[in-house]
Amino acid sequence: MITDSVIQFKEAINTSKSRLNALSEAGEKIIGYFCTYTPVEIIHAAGFIPVRITGGYGNIDKAYQHVPDFICPYMKLALEKALDGQYDFLSGLVQGYSCDAACGMVNVWKDTVGLKIFHSIPLPYNNTLESGNYFKSVLNELIQKLDTIGGNFSESALNGSMNLYCRIRTLLYNLYQQRYKGNSDFSAAELMTIIDAGSVVPPEDYLVMLEELSARLPDKGKEQSPGILVPEPVLVSGSLIERPEVMDMIEASGGRIVADDLCNGLRQILPVDGKGKTPMERLIHRYMNRFPCPSRSRAVDRGRRLLDILNQSHAKGVIFLVQKFCTPHLADIPILSESLKELDYPSILIEMDETWQMEGQIKTRLEGFFEMIGRR
Ligand code: SF4
Repeated sequence: MITDSVIQFKEAINTSKSRLNALSEAGEKIIGYFCTYTPVEIIHAAGFIPVRITGGYGNIDKAYQHVPDFICPYMKLALEKALDGQYDFLSGLVQGYSCDAACGMVNVWKDTVGLKIFHSIPLPYNNTLESGNYFKSVLNELIQKLDTIGGNFSESALNGSMNLYCRIRTLLYNLYQQRYKGNSDFSAAELMTIIDAGSVVPPEDYLVMLEELSARLPDKGKEQSPGILVPEPVLVSGSLIERPEVMDMIEASGGRIVADDLCNGLRQILPVDGKGKTPMERLIHRYMNRFPCPSRSRAVDRGRRLLDILNQSHAKGVIFLVQKFCTPHLADIPILSESLKELDYPSILIEMDETWQMEGQIKTRLEGFFEMIGRR
């Protein structure tokens, strides 16, 4: 179910291909990226429109001529769309090095999809002065690569881009904080639709949409008591969810999603900004201190973040909703679920394939999970 205020975000997603094609024909240059570790602010400051490449859901056919079955549906479906010409509006593909699947796919795209540039950014794992300097040098390399296709980067443009994305993330985080208080105007699926639109709409236009949305929301003074959060409040943790309706399907099984640890959720929003004297320092600080993906951090560190969000949101359990063959997420789950269990938070693992269907057995397992939480 989509409420009126979310319709324009849904439409922006549904019409994104024709709009981006029109922008490209009008001379705008659009750069695609897979992962939110890609520093979109640099791409934007160089004069390009950053757009997240999605896979959606459906059948895979052509992609199997180039990749094996055992990689995540996201990567296979994204390649399928590219081979179908659905990403012809892109001038290039830039990817911040996250998981091996996504970064290997940059090379597959290079061999099979005709774009002007392909670039992987090797991100540091450690957070030290030396790794910050290293990160700066790879960002300069990216700027030079963007220059080859007409980029025009400047520090003052980066300052503007940092402020723009910070404002966007702040408004999105406000929507999360309302959920934590039990005061949200949107379902989890609607919130995901609002966030997803930001991946395919130029950021200046998206900010206008978010500002209008925020202005229309009623003033929320009082906090709802966590005790009356029914049905059972849960946190959903996983990679990229390509079909917001999945959130409705979970809630139809008896739960209420109050928070997430998702690639197209809170993980791409926090922190809303970095610290530093220059725009470049701010950017480096933000990316080196961001809410981590399992491909970039240890499970114990992620566990602490999860616990923090569980406390803030009053969620009583965790649903690990993971794309099939998503190794980074699957590898963390035994450690995370064990430490959650010790703290009395039950969890369940649901793996999704490229159809993103959630029926039969999965629904029954979720119903049992929510019933068990309700009895505690
Ligand atoms: S993190 Fe998982 S879902 Fe995301 S690209 Fe890598 S393997 Fe695919």
